[in-house]
Amino acid sequence: MIYGFDFDGTLVESWTAKPLPGVRGRLAALPAGTHTFIATNQAGPVFRAVLGQAKYPSVEDVAQRLTDGLRALDWRPDLLLICVAPPLKHQQDYAWVRAASEAITALNVTIPGLIVRIGRDPTWRKPQPGMLFAAARYYDMRIRSMCYIGDMETDRQAARATGCGYLDAVAWRKGAAT
Ligand SMILES: [Mg+2]
Repeated sequence: MIYGFDFDGTLVESWTAKPLPGVRGRLAALPAGTHTFIATNQAGPVFRAVLGQAKYPSVEDVAQRLTDGLRALDWRPDLLLICVAPPLKHQQDYAWVRAASEAITALNVTIPGLIVRIGRDPTWRKPQPGMLFAAARYYDMRIRSMCYIGDMETDRQAARATGCGYLDAVAWRKGAAT
C-alpha cells in the first residue's frame, strides 16, 4: 500500500513547519515498510517572482519549511513531489512559465534518503492528478493501491481523477483507517 500526503493543512499548519495535532502519532503508527510520499503545490516563489510581492515565500523559505516540517514530524517519506506550476490562468503566460522554470532550478531540498522531484508541468498542479500518477509510476504500483490524504477539495479532485483512494486529513488525524 502507498500513502500519499498533502503537506500544508494536512501534516503541518498551513505555511508553517508546525505539525498538526495527531499527525506524528498517525505517521508513527503506519506499518513498517509502508510506502509514503508527499505531493504538494508550492507555487509561492513563482508568485513572488512575477508579482514582486514579498508576502509570498522565496524558494529558500519553501525548502526550509519543508525540511523543518519533516524534522518536526520526526518522519521522512520516500518521495517528495513539489509542483511549482502556476494556476491554470497563467500557464500560457511567458513570465509565469519562466518563473516556474527558475524556481525548479533554484529550489533545493536536500534531505538524506529522500527522493525529491520538482515539476512545473501543468498536469502536476492539483486538482490535476499528475503528481499522483508520478508517484504510482515511481513505485511501479497500481493506482488502486494508493490512498491520498489531503485537506482541500483540490486534493480530493486529484485523487478522484486517478482512481486512487482519498481520505480527508481531519478524519485521518482523528484516527480514520487508511
Ligand atoms: Mg493542503
